[in-house]
Amino acid sequence: MNYVQVQNDALDKIVAHKLEVERFADLNLIEALKIPEVKQLYDEIKDLKRQLAFNENSAKSSQNIEKCIVDKRKQLQKLLQQHNIKLSSLIPKYWCEKCKDSGMYEGQMCSCVKERATKVLMTSQDGNASDVEFANVNFNIFEDKDYVKQAYNIAKTFVEKIDTTKYNNFTILGGVGVGKTYLMQCMANLAMQQNRYVVYMSAFQLNQLFLNYHTAPMLEKNKIIEPVLTCEMLCIDDLGCEQMFNNVTTPMLTMIINERNLSSKKTVITSNLSLDEIRERYDYRLCSRLLDESVSLKIMLSGSDLRQTKK
Ligand SMILES: [Zn+2]
Repeated sequence: MNYVQVQNDALDKIVAHKLEVERFADLNLIEALKIPEVKQLYDEIKDLKRQLAFNENSAKSSQNIEKCIVDKRKQLQKLLQQHNIKLSSLIPKYWCEKCKDSGMYEGQMCSCVKERATKVLMTSQDGNASDVEFANVNFNIFEDKDYVKQAYNIAKTFVEKIDTTKYNNFTILGGVGVGKTYLMQCMANLAMQQNRYVVYMSAFQLNQLFLNYHTAPMLEKNKIIEPVLTCEMLCIDDLGCEQMFNNVTTPMLTMIINERNLSSKKTVITSNLSLDEIRERYDYRLCSRLLDESVSLKIMLSGSDLRQTKK
């Protein structure tokens, strides 16, 4: 699945949730309104709200009405309690209060859709990624725990100072199973907690996106490439695992990193490859960006760091 599909899927799920919680709240309301006293109070509040809308210009009478509404709401709540109905059961429980699960906010796609899409991609890489956080890291499982702690701190600072750091790229190197993906997911989760727009994908998925872009009609190209160009943090997992498509993989990757660097957007990459292997595999312009110490940070988690006892 490519990112646009994942995002559309996330949007579908969010809107389906909206319909579900609204239907549930509606059914509860219909049930509650069968009680005459409840219906009476409910209608009174509705009337008052209507008056409030009419009275917008007169501050004094509005104040009275507002107070009246608050009082009536309290009465209603009490009355519902007597009938063992929770007021909260009559209100839809949205996932996102900002867009009320419509997926749109101020004319644009709400951040909750992007966040959900990113979470889906993160989870598809490595099981449940939601509890992967800097605060939960157990450094005791690392042989060289002081070194790893330091590496995690550098990564954490990179995310915390995302607006001010001069570094645009963060590359995590090391063998299989040393926790590169884990560290990157910590970074992605922290960035999302800070309400950043994060796009997370494996190099394989990104490569598929490049291929889609390459073969898409002109009018659709922008929609495909937009998330990886505009997101505040792009996480690419396992660079080097992707197939090399001629005239696609390397030029597109170079273009993406270049564009992102020009607009100071952050890119985090993990790879099993050594620096020499990266140099050999990709365009020298891409390597010079990724390996240039004035704009890029590199962390090496070496192969023997993780003890066998991990989980
Ligand atoms: Zn939302």
